[in-house]
Amino acid sequence: MNTINPILFVADKMLGKLARYLRIIGYDTFYQSSYPDQRLSELVKEGRILLTRNHATARQYSNSIFVDCDLVKDQLNVVDNAITLTRDRRDWFSRCLVCNSPLSKTEGEAARQNVPDFVFFKYHKRILFCPTCKRFYWPGTHRQRMLERLKDWGF
Ligand SMILES: [Zn+2]
Repeated sequence: MNTINPILFVADKMLGKLARYLRIIGYDTFYQSSYPDQRLSELVKEGRILLTRNHATARQYSNSIFVDCDLVKDQLNVVDNAITLTRDRRDWFSRCLVCNSPLSKTEGEAARQNVPDFVFFKYHKRILFCPTCKRFYWPGTHRQRMLERLKDWGF
């Protein structure tokens, strides 16, 4: 699945939750819990918008957003105010929440062996797979909770 959204982010080490929610709504969001020297600046040079909790770092890069709050809801709001995030749900849940790779459709047999039976029978046409970290994703209660949360937050 290719994302329809051309905006790319890189989130600093303090913004893991925000990165996860941006991935949920379909944004290609690079995130690591630590970055070696120069890595962030390389990622910004590649065209990613830097999301940072650090004011000095934000000032260093013109292509950055200073995220000055703790709750992921408020953090999303800051990004939304800066660049207006999409409300187009076609891209939602199209990326791996853990490693950011675009998800693929699964072959029936692979899904059958890797997800619980009831999931396979209920959702087999909607099970997706991360080709990088080999995780399987399907619509379920966890996803439902995230959807409700996003809806409450105005998405
Ligand atoms: Zn993955």
